[in-house]
Amino acid sequence: MADMRKEREEREERAWEIARSFGEDVVPLFTVPGCADSEYVSAVARTKRLLERWSMDNVFRARLYEHPQEACDAYGIDIDPQNVRILWHEQEARQRKQDRANGLPTPQDSRSVRRYRSFIAEKLAFRDWMRDVKAGVSGRFGLWRLQQMHRCTLELGPAKSAGLVHATVAFELQKGCSVGCWFCGVGAEKLSAHFAYSPEHAALWRDTLDVCRDVIGDSVFNGFCYWASDPLDNPDYIHFITDFRRALGRYPQTTTAIPLRNEAKTREILDMVRDCAGEIQRFSILTLKMLDDVHSRFTPEELINVELLPLNRESGVPKANAGHARVKSPRGHAKTSDEQPQTIACMSGFLFNMVDRSVRMVTPCHASDRWPNGYRVLAQGHFDNAEQLRKLLIRLIDGAGHVVTHDTTVALNPCLVATTVTREGYDIASIWVKRTLVNFPAFAALDRLLRDGVHTAADVATRIEDETGTPLVDTFNILNELLRLGALDTEPAEAEPVVQRVGAVKAMDSA
Ligand code: SF4
Repeated sequence: MADMRKEREEREERAWEIARSFGEDVVPLFTVPGCADSEYVSAVARTKRLLERWSMDNVFRARLYEHPQEACDAYGIDIDPQNVRILWHEQEARQRKQDRANGLPTPQDSRSVRRYRSFIAEKLAFRDWMRDVKAGVSGRFGLWRLQQMHRCTLELGPAKSAGLVHATVAFELQKGCSVGCWFCGVGAEKLSAHFAYSPEHAALWRDTLDVCRDVIGDSVFNGFCYWASDPLDNPDYIHFITDFRRALGRYPQTTTAIPLRNEAKTREILDMVRDCAGEIQRFSILTLKMLDDVHSRFTPEELINVELLPLNRESGVPKANAGHARVKSPRGHAKTSDEQPQTIACMSGFLFNMVDRSVRMVTPCHASDRWPNGYRVLAQGHFDNAEQLRKLLIRLIDGAGHVVTHDTTVALNPCLVATTVTREGYDIASIWVKRTLVNFPAFAALDRLLRDGVHTAADVATRIEDETGTPLVDTFNILNELLRLGALDTEPAEAEPVVQRVGAVKAMDSA
């Protein structure tokens, strides 16, 4: 945990730098909450509230443009909207951006705007820190995860990819979800069972966390306790996250669509995390009425570190065409187009279901007929105790293909729309990004053989050596660089479905 402590200290330093870049009167409220007085906190919290209403309520949006102060007063938002106008007046914001790009003088942002922007910048830095955290994401698993991060940038685009934390673990404490959202991007089934915090289950849970930390590393602290499930469906959720904190050093992020079903419990969770610097919780807002209710039950200050996710129809935010959304389309709801990323999955690691004691090794991808829920399942298995889990995780990592071996069939990632051999090197491009590889004398031959898509790495290396005299080791190095960049096709072959791998893992378990 010493490395983690060091990384946390670095995070604080970085937060101060961010705050100072917005002005001497700005402090890192998110990362070091104690450094801001109550007036500071309140101003940021009320700006946040205005923007929540603005992003989810089209009637409010229209009123705000016409009569800003009246609109805020009518919705009980205690703020001078003109003071933060640049945050909600899209046309003016666009114009200012344009003026800046053209080198024209622009007015300085108000103190409230600078403080709010700094708060957001800190949260983005936190997200990046969660994704890039080094401690414990090393070795073979770290290599594999890094490949998935690069692959996602090629396949889903840099904007979407930057938002994925690639959590290393997620734990479902239920089977299914009681909420039943039509758009559920991970295809949650109906709630059928939960993992109760009995003495036997509590022991298995604590063992599971310990094994994850031992095998994967401290990075498992970026995990959470939901997936195709709502954490608050589990009556014992608080016990589980208390253990999580004890074992891994922080409370897992809670994202719930039912924060008001048991308000006392939600408040208890918010109280528990309040003293933990720089933590985000999230409420999914499914309807305008739910926004009204959340805003009336919780003050802006109570929700300063709770993000409200705009999932209601009036927000106009399109739903990812993944999971249930692939087969349902209620009138008036927007969905992402085919050109946009079709996934809400955000982990590259181990997805547990504690009810059936299963583990799946998963990573994001576009939703498709084969992967309708927007993530690939590379392999899976079951466990009944810590020892079985330890062996299972190690075997899943070993089988994940973190390097190109002699018998790896090497082919280009189908997301690549162009590959070009130039005088300088080898350009590969998806619709989103281009990468250039250099320092290899036989890119033309390599490109041709990769396009065939049927040769093993040993075959490719041998042919290139025969044709050009390039040493085998150089070809393996460049193939591994392509793998690292996510440029090789690593999707499990249809002919070798996950089910077979399951059998293999199970067989190994019982060995
Ligand atoms: S989106 Fe979340 S809350 Fe809604 S059904 Fe899926 S898992 Fe449940």
